[in-house]
Amino acid sequence: MNAVPSFKLSGVAVPSSAADMLDEICEHFVEHAEVERIDDLAVLRSKVGVACIRLENARLLIDLDCPTPEMLHMSRTILAEHLFYFAEDQPFELTWSEPTALSVLPNLHEVTVVSAHDVTPHMRRVIFSCADVTPFVGGDMHVRLLVPPKGKPPVWPGFREDGRIAWPEGENELVVRVYTIRAVDHDRGELWVDFLQHPAPGVSTPGADFARDAQPGDVAALLGPGAGSLPAERSILLIGDESALPAIARIAAEVPAETRMRAIIEVEDKAEEQPLPTAGVLDVRWLHRGSYPEGAADILVSEAKTAIETVNDEAFVWAACERGDIRAIRTFLKARQHDRKKMYVAWYWERNV
Ligand SMILES: Cc1cc2nc3c(=O)[nH]c(=O)nc-3n(C[C@H](O)[C@H](O)[C@H](O)COP(=O)(O)OP(=O)(O)OC[C@H]3O[C@@H](n4cnc5c(N)ncnc54)[C@H](O)[C@@H]3O)c2cc1C
Repeated sequence: MNAVPSFKLSGVAVPSSAADMLDEICEHFVEHAEVERIDDLAVLRSKVGVACIRLENARLLIDLDCPTPEMLHMSRTILAEHLFYFAEDQPFELTWSEPTALSVLPNLHEVTVVSAHDVTPHMRRVIFSCADVTPFVGGDMHVRLLVPPKGKPPVWPGFREDGRIAWPEGENELVVRVYTIRAVDHDRGELWVDFLQHPAPGVSTPGADFARDAQPGDVAALLGPGAGSLPAERSILLIGDESALPAIARIAAEVPAETRMRAIIEVEDKAEEQPLPTAGVLDVRWLHRGSYPEGAADILVSEAKTAIETVNDEAFVWAACERGDIRAIRTFLKARQHDRKKMYVAWYWERNV
């Protein structure tokens, strides 16, 4: 029997409080990986490999062990980006035993616009061709869309020494926004992304505008896929607004026949509803924001809470919408002690930024 190849890398992180950072790592990654905490050691196991993080002499000693060199690079980058995020503006140093051998991110896919059309009055679908759609099949749904400046050949990101992504700056700066792969057309080598056209008076909306203006031949890149894997449970409660509709539609489209789903989806009006074909059983409640009585607030949150009260411990709760609404839903789930491994609760956009 062949041994599974293993690619290793170690690192040292020096935060202002290593103990607090280790707690934060465990708290955060529990929704993305299997996390085991034994005193000063945290072990994170996921599809991309194993990370052992040990607290020693006010430092975090990191050992990564991954099945491929690409996964090793991705693990390093994911960890580095998170650790710097957790450090906020406190002093923080991160060094690795070896510099990266790659100049281009292994999960960066250059894509070309094939066509674009309106699915509903405010949802515009862009179809991209991609040389290899295999990484997008079945697993994680989300990507970072990278849009180069108009009329300039793209300069894609590389790596910094500390493992974080080195983003092009100045005249090569990219627009970066997070989206969902709505569907993968394996035979045609195409990926669909649905962009909500959300008017934001007085503020530019570069992500939505990319879709509005997309022309066949336009080049962009997708970084990923990552996070947001399809729930494996056979009972799922789905909660979201238009920004989550592409993900909800994809989950419905890809679950096996025995899955029972209930969905609460907030859209502007009836014209924004979409058919959600599925092999499972799906009961959808559409909420029309445009018809709410004047002064009505938090209708999605209140409907979400009522629905959560009806689910049993085995159900998977999937929720994505505006940041404040998500905070309320998360607090409610926590108070009910819903198993964190049986939930995906993520904010997809933020009001008034
Ligand atoms: C994991 C993940 C997956 C996502 N998938 C999708 C997807 O498939 N399709 C999709 O359309 N969006 C999706 N989103 C949401 C999308 O990333 C944000 O809406 C993003 O802000 C859009 O960028 P923009 O440049 O158009 O607007 P921004 O420049 O980011 O924001 C400009 C203004 O618009 C407001 N705004 C932003 N988004 C919305 C919104 N949804 N509704 C109302 N006002 C808004 C902001 O408050 C701000 O004032 C996803 C987000 C995440 C985190």
